[in-house]
Amino acid sequence: MQIKKLTFNPIQENMYIIYDDTKDCIIIDPGCYFHQEREELKSFIEENQLRPVKLINTHCHLDHICGNKYVADTWSLKLEANKLDEYNLQRSIEAGILYNMPIEPSPPIDVDLKEGDEIKFGNSALSILFTPGHSSGSVSFYSQAHNFVIAGDVLFRMSIGRTDLPGGDFDTLIDSIKSKLFVLPKNTIVYSGHGEETTVGYEMKNNPFLN
Ligand SMILES: [Zn+2]
Repeated sequence: MQIKKLTFNPIQENMYIIYDDTKDCIIIDPGCYFHQEREELKSFIEENQLRPVKLINTHCHLDHICGNKYVADTWSLKLEANKLDEYNLQRSIEAGILYNMPIEPSPPIDVDLKEGDEIKFGNSALSILFTPGHSSGSVSFYSQAHNFVIAGDVLFRMSIGRTDLPGGDFDTLIDSIKSKLFVLPKNTIVYSGHGEETTVGYEMKNNPFLN
């Protein structure tokens, strides 16, 4: 499996394209907002001859979904996310105006991503971990075989997701991190929704919110 990170939009969100030798790819949290960002995404996919087969959100905050409609329309994909985050899609037009980042409405969640299920594409699979607290329906995607987890806004290098937005809850978030992420092998690479990669072990030792 290969992972491509693109950092887009005024909120500097990390979107991920994950693909394998079959050239099937999944698109996670398309934050492509401006025309040139969408062109960059499209060029990457075309230049690598990838075939997008899934559109996925770790959670449905504005900066993670602002490219949902573009990706859904361009590659004829339906949205997959945890349905407990549907409320964020419903308030996203309003949130876009509030954050001075107006967006096109995202398609609704078509496939509910639940703990214990797998996201399958090509010859690959990612396990779904239910990790609420930053939002009600935040999920993370884990590959044991390739030693990484896509954590959305649950855990960052030396920080954690904010819990002051609707559906956020500090204790729930800390519990998600401890019970779902900190039980993974310490050398697991954590790809977050903002900022640089980190590892489970580094955060267990150094994250000021978890000591
Ligand atoms: Zn978020």
